[in-house]
Amino acid sequence: MLKNALFTSLLFFSGHGYAQANSQSVELAKVVPIADVHMHTYQQNPRPAKWWHEMMDANGVKWGGAVGDYREDVQAELGDRYIPAVGQPEFFKVFFKEGRSGLTNPENEAFKDLYLRSEKLFAEGKIKGFGEFHTDNHSSGPPRIRRSIRTDNPAMRKFYEIANRYGGFVQIHAEFDGDFEKDILSLSADYPKTTTVLSHCLSSKDADKVAIILSKRNNIVCELSSLGAVHVNRLNIPRSPHAFDSGGLYSNWIKFIEAYPDQVLLGSDPCCGIDASYSEIISELRTSVLPYLKPETIEKVAHKNAVRIFSLKQ
Ligand SMILES: [Zn+2]
Repeated sequence: MLKNALFTSLLFFSGHGYAQANSQSVELAKVVPIADVHMHTYQQNPRPAKWWHEMMDANGVKWGGAVGDYREDVQAELGDRYIPAVGQPEFFKVFFKEGRSGLTNPENEAFKDLYLRSEKLFAEGKIKGFGEFHTDNHSSGPPRIRRSIRTDNPAMRKFYEIANRYGGFVQIHAEFDGDFEKDILSLSADYPKTTTVLSHCLSSKDADKVAIILSKRNNIVCELSSLGAVHVNRLNIPRSPHAFDSGGLYSNWIKFIEAYPDQVLLGSDPCCGIDASYSEIISELRTSVLPYLKPETIEKVAHKNAVRIFSLKQ
């Protein structure tokens, strides 16, 4: 207890704009195994499966995936280290073909195929969940992929229902508002064995928004990808980072993660043509995020929460 109290006082009352990391946390952050729960391995313009394997090994990333695209060659290469998810290419396909209304319709052909295919893959133990489903990205990403739909809709309920039967997950990319809060709380209550992973902790500077949701459900977690300076710089995003930069993890995010240490995970989001920056992205997590947390929180956020949620083999 005394150690914790001392740590907290060093962390929060350092008197600078940024919190100070303690040396024990800095050292642990360099070497702790990471589960990257927002690791895209795209089917289009793919990197070879071996490339992903080598990048993970080079960066101490023991497990990766949890978002689309599902790739059998990556699964064969990574084995138990892959966190396989389906549905992202289909979700985009439906959106481009049928627009927003298609995304909420469980009767469209692409979703009907996906329901059948995912049932089979879950039953065979080949996938663990769905995602990334963009239900509200109205203020991020290229204009042609922007949209906002209700997250609680008939098509989404079917994904939650399937995941629920297998203790699986659904990774959702959304932004906070009253409708989203209502929707995600009802889905997670109606499907208690489905874990919801909120991509990018809802893409906001305001950690209180995601805290409102995590405080109400144990089966909702969030991951920290795309919240730092590397994404802002590499993607030329015209704003400052949401949660961390080279000076460290912002104090409101430290407080948030320490308040919900069992519900926060790490992700890289090597999307949008920045997969060549994978090492830089992981290095940013090891130097600008993890050192500002308590040692036990570092282990949880880096991999223990993911091991529990995705039943990963250690
Ligand atoms: Zn993504």
